[in-house]
Amino acid sequence: MTTPSSSQAGNFIRDIVVADLESGRHGGRVVTRFPPEPNGYLHIGHAKSICLNFGLAREFRGVCHLRFDDTNPTTESLEYVEAIQADVRWLGFDWADRLFYASDYFEQLYDYAERLITKGKAYVDSSSADEIRECRGTLTEPGKNSPFRTRSTQENLEMFRRMRAGGFEDGSHVLRAKIDMASPNINLRDPILYRIRRAAHYRTGTTWLMYPTYDYAHPLSDAIEGITHSICTLEFEDHRPLYDWVVEQCGAGSRPQQVEFARLNLTDTVMSKRKLLELVERKQVSGWDDPRLPTLKGLRRRGYTPEAIRAFCDHIGVTKRDAVVESALLEHFVRDDLNKRAPRVMAVLRPLKVVIDNYPAGQVEQLDAVNNPEDLSAGTRSVPFTRVVYIERDDFREVPPKEFFRLAPGREVRLRYAYIIKCVDVVKDPQSGEVQELRCTYDPETRSGGAQAARKVKSTIHWVSAAQALDAEVRLYEPLLVESEASHVQDEQDFIANLNPHSLERLSACRVEPSLEKAPVGSRYQFERIGYFCVDPDSASGRLVFNRTVSLRDAWAKAEKAKQTGR
Ligand code: ATP
Ligand code: MG
Repeated sequence: MTTPSSSQAGNFIRDIVVADLESGRHGGRVVTRFPPEPNGYLHIGHAKSICLNFGLAREFRGVCHLRFDDTNPTTESLEYVEAIQADVRWLGFDWADRLFYASDYFEQLYDYAERLITKGKAYVDSSSADEIRECRGTLTEPGKNSPFRTRSTQENLEMFRRMRAGGFEDGSHVLRAKIDMASPNINLRDPILYRIRRAAHYRTGTTWLMYPTYDYAHPLSDAIEGITHSICTLEFEDHRPLYDWVVEQCGAGSRPQQVEFARLNLTDTVMSKRKLLELVERKQVSGWDDPRLPTLKGLRRRGYTPEAIRAFCDHIGVTKRDAVVESALLEHFVRDDLNKRAPRVMAVLRPLKVVIDNYPAGQVEQLDAVNNPEDLSAGTRSVPFTRVVYIERDDFREVPPKEFFRLAPGREVRLRYAYIIKCVDVVKDPQSGEVQELRCTYDPETRSGGAQAARKVKSTIHWVSAAQALDAEVRLYEPLLVESEASHVQDEQDFIANLNPHSLERLSACRVEPSLEKAPVGSRYQFERIGYFCVDPDSASGRLVFNRTVSLRDAWAKAEKAKQTGR
């Protein structure tokens, strides 16, 4: 198996931080922040940003703040705040006592705004939203000055104070920066700093009835906290001159440096919060933690480990080029991690009954099974063997094709950790013709680990003993979208139409070995020969439910190997 080397793609932001430390910029400090808006759950894209921000702080003995960018009262809530904190912790990062909220700065931001007005750098515009839009100009045409641009400082201050006091209706006035309506950068054409929004905020209640925009609140929050490197995604590159303008004009003290990187996109899935919300609200998935979603809650329920996600983020690196990463690469890291630590067990997903005619009825042998061949310190367990076992339906063919070496009439296979059996008869449903049961014999001289176990057969299959096996439901997952990348490339396309109707398959008649009886929710196993599985919270009702985390087949490693060997 090919194991990718660390940070293949490089991390140019790390290089910037190293250079800044050497030159003494920012006084040799590294202060980063992860600034989620609490309007949804975190997804794997956020994980990239979390690993980057917290990772840099950790590496360079700096600090990373967790800051809720909560300036939009209508979409934010405490539920999201709490879930985001749990997700960041689960990923393995800690903000210690550096938990902040943009809403804590509302008073300060207001004072800075009055300062801008006093300096003649901001004005209250009473144009309608449509009028403001019409005057903004286009990429090729300059904008037009608002008729309110020349309002006196005194009038601006009075209006702005009345806006704060709640004296106006939504949309009747805004506060705008006075920069340059002819700037080639549209972001600098007198951007809006405050909007009236008569809505209660989950933290500040109705204290505020106007709210700062992202472009105004974000740079100032960074400056107030003494952030050195304000890391954001590429779409904010054109906002950087405005970011710098706000920090400079407000004289907010420290001078954070905005650095932009390419966001993470994954094939076969949706990543935008709006689309995730739509899937949840339209009940296309069972909730934010549906194991098919790329939310951290979903991935956790699916069985992904924080270690695997961190290794993946490290591997893909940090670049300026937008790209879509194969989901198979993320799966590769999950498999790689679970291979090292997931105990092996036997489970049969689509059971076929096998009766071993010459095995004594009522006899139970306890056979030793290795818990993890990758980690012998994990020891062994015993699995019961009896006259009636279940094997996987797929492991038997009545008419075996050429390359099929498993069980078939007259053929032998080894039952893992047990004996070699031979199929002597096939019992079928007289009506449907479906195979109902196999009659076999076993060779008592071939017990695994025994003195004469050396006799070889072409294949070894897994099984469970019928009497002791536990019932289980197993949920198999396939990609959420049928067509890769569609949602990223054609953003406004109806992605619901592109959902994979077979993304979830429930197998409700599975049988698993009895050692799993008390398997705790969230614990992960390798079902031998099948894949990695994780105990779902739905197991709480008594019956075991497993999610398939990943199959054993590693499409990504295979493709890499083919590349290397030129095939
Ligand atoms: P969306 O566009 O899906 O609504 P967002 O970027 O608005 O997401 P925020 O809560 O503002 O969501 O994101 C918090 C941080 O995570 C931001 O700094 C943002 O740049 C970063 N981030 C969000 N999505 C990604 C992604 N796909 N890849 C890397 N970083 C991301
Ligand atoms: Mg955002």
